[in-house]
Amino acid sequence: MKPLTYNTGKIPVWCPGCGNFAIWNSIKKALASLELEPQKIALVSGIGCSGKMVNHVRSYAFHALHGRTLPVATGVKLANPELNVIVNGGDGDGYGMGVGHLIHAIRRNINVTYIVHHNKVYGLTTGQAAPTAVEGTISKSTPFGVVDAQINPLVLAMANGATYVARGYSGESEQLAELIAGGIQHKGFAIIDVLQPCVTFGGDYKYDYYDERTEKLTEMPSPEKAIALATEPDKYYLGLYSKYDRPSYDERHPEISTEIKAKDVSKLIESFI
Ligand code: SF4
Repeated sequence: MKPLTYNTGKIPVWCPGCGNFAIWNSIKKALASLELEPQKIALVSGIGCSGKMVNHVRSYAFHALHGRTLPVATGVKLANPELNVIVNGGDGDGYGMGVGHLIHAIRRNINVTYIVHHNKVYGLTTGQAAPTAVEGTISKSTPFGVVDAQINPLVLAMANGATYVARGYSGESEQLAELIAGGIQHKGFAIIDVLQPCVTFGGDYKYDYYDERTEKLTEMPSPEKAIALATEPDKYYLGLYSKYDRPSYDERHPEISTEIKAKDVSKLIESFI
């Protein structure tokens, strides 16, 4: 299988230089490395520039409401556990309005791979501050500077028991492909927070900023060290922070998919037409 296998023929409309291109390529590389056939993959995305990913990867796809990717992905996985469910969303989508869903997906250990495009802004709506924005950042929604503290997604995920936690960077697409492949292979909830420069509305947080502040982890750190690394100011370590085994929700509740498969869903579909 080659990365080209997963092209849909649609040309992305992301701004030239957007970090989303590298994430797109890394997803395709990861899928090719795992030899996954398109019909074994379901992509779910939220609203935002990242949400367009469903248009560009050959697979089943669902473009969900803003902040609601994980409930949809949960439904897809429980209905058909044989699908590899990959979720794409922005940091506003996932750490803002969707953060409650994130915590519950973590505690249930839903077996999906969640790729969060971390660019510190709402790019599609032209640059409002996301929950990852640095305190003091001037943006369209914060003309006097962000007054709230940043969400730290890695700490949030690890503290709540996520079974696979990683950080990637659009500027390191080979490593990112490996982290995504690792997340897909992991049996449980995998979150990969990806530093994705928004070159148009991202203010100071572009490639130069991250190139100067990123460093690859050489091995997975201990839990204590992982928290220390994730909270080091003005520094972004790239790699796998945490991984351990815990039965996933679909493993613990196989009866859910059996019940769904036994139902005649055609009537339900008709009711929507
Ligand atoms: Fe990428 Fe930002 Fe352009 Fe959206 S607005 S496509 S995130 S560079």
